[in-house]
Amino acid sequence: MLKGVRRLPIRWQITFWFSGLLAVVLVFFGLALYFTLQTDLLTRIDESLKRRATEVRLRFEGMTQVANLDSLQVAKALESNPLDEFADPGLYVQVLDEQGKVIGDSSSLGQARLPIDPALVLAALNGQTSTGETVIANERVRIYYQALLVNNEVIGVMEVGESLKPYTDTLNRIRLYLIIGGVVALLISLVGGWLVTRRALRPVVRVSEIARRIAATRDFEERIPQHPNLKGQHDEISELAATFNQMLEELGRVFDVHRQFMADTSHELRTPLTIIQGNLDLLKRGLPPSEAAEAVDETGEEAARLSRLVSDLLMLAQADAGMMVERTEIDLAAVVRRSFNRATQLAENQGKPLKLSIDRLAPARVMGDEYRLDQAIFNLLDNAVRYTQQGEIRLSMVVEHHGNNQGQAIILVKDSGPGIAPEHLDHLFKRFYRVDKARSRALGGTGLGLAIVKYIVEAHSGRVQVESQFGVGSTFKVIIPLA
Ligand code: ADP
Repeated sequence: MLKGVRRLPIRWQITFWFSGLLAVVLVFFGLALYFTLQTDLLTRIDESLKRRATEVRLRFEGMTQVANLDSLQVAKALESNPLDEFADPGLYVQVLDEQGKVIGDSSSLGQARLPIDPALVLAALNGQTSTGETVIANERVRIYYQALLVNNEVIGVMEVGESLKPYTDTLNRIRLYLIIGGVVALLISLVGGWLVTRRALRPVVRVSEIARRIAATRDFEERIPQHPNLKGQHDEISELAATFNQMLEELGRVFDVHRQFMADTSHELRTPLTIIQGNLDLLKRGLPPSEAAEAVDETGEEAARLSRLVSDLLMLAQADAGMMVERTEIDLAAVVRRSFNRATQLAENQGKPLKLSIDRLAPARVMGDEYRLDQAIFNLLDNAVRYTQQGEIRLSMVVEHHGNNQGQAIILVKDSGPGIAPEHLDHLFKRFYRVDKARSRALGGTGLGLAIVKYIVEAHSGRVQVESQFGVGSTFKVIIPLA
């Protein structure tokens, strides 16, 4: 049953839970009210019956006393004269002698007899009073037993019975009202609960409608409208709407970045492919040997660029997929030295008048991925070598401790290259951002190098910064916390 309720829409679940609780409360209070009333009414009836019975007995005793009758004469008198003058409708009187034999009754009893309970009769003869019950003509009748005295002598027992019809009628009516009232209250709670929850949950329905629409149209511009009266209100639903809108904004931004990235990527892939295609066409048509060699060289260069681009893209795709760098405790100085050696080799191959130098490296142990850190530092050195035509490239690493914190390694790659104008500095680490596109291409760049550096450094809980003076040179700074 509970499982069934849990499978229903929330609106129905809330309605059922509340109505269920209300039903339990109603039944509990209804039963308590009914039984309290029942006991209370019966007590009152007993009290009134007792008063009536005492009244009847006293009048009867008074009459017999005035006439100065003894018990035998009383019995005789009763035989010829029923006890009608005491009996209102619904009131029954019956007189027993000391043996418990009926010696008189009221004609309201007709052929019926009040029950004769020997124990109660005996008790009454001993001066005790008590109550019993019977059914006469389908009506419950309450009976009061008491001793009957003539001249201070017990001559028998008087039973006075009173119909419980008004009492049972009242109780039946109350029961009916309680049942009808309960059912009506439950219906109101079901309908009201359903309407109220429907109203309260309307924004939630709206959220899912909009989410469905966005999933179909990819239009992240859409927002959940906030009711003007609800603005500034902080209930759960308006908070949900606000959060959802925030999420849409963020999704829209991510989606735009993604779309831009896809457009840039296809453009970057297409350029070398077009060049390769063009060269192949030329070669097919037949070229003089010197031009053919040039076309083959260019094709090779473009193929190499494509391959670099694809591996950079793959690296970033892994980063986007949340690929974690594998972090173990490593000697960062060793990694820096290795990158430096590779960069020196590269500079030598290019034959530029460059002086690469490395300062004494401070020992630093960090939690990191050797391969990725080497890739990041080498990318910075590679840029320095590519963009600097002559002069000096200097690599250094220091370790800093501030107060109690764990300390950090700071790697600096400083060049005497062309420098970067201030307006570009904020964008340098974005994918495919290049200050001078043609120059970057000519130097074999993919426009992804610094984006990869940023990813790797941040995956090591570090950060990367750049300072540059146009026409003087640039310094890239990588900061990595120590192990
Ligand atoms: P690219 O493959 O084009 O070099 P990067 O992401 O490595 O891509 O760098 C982005 C841009 O930053 C480069 O196109 C270049 O304009 C600029 N840049 C990077 N490093 C340097 C540097 N050492 N000196 C001058 N400009 C640089």
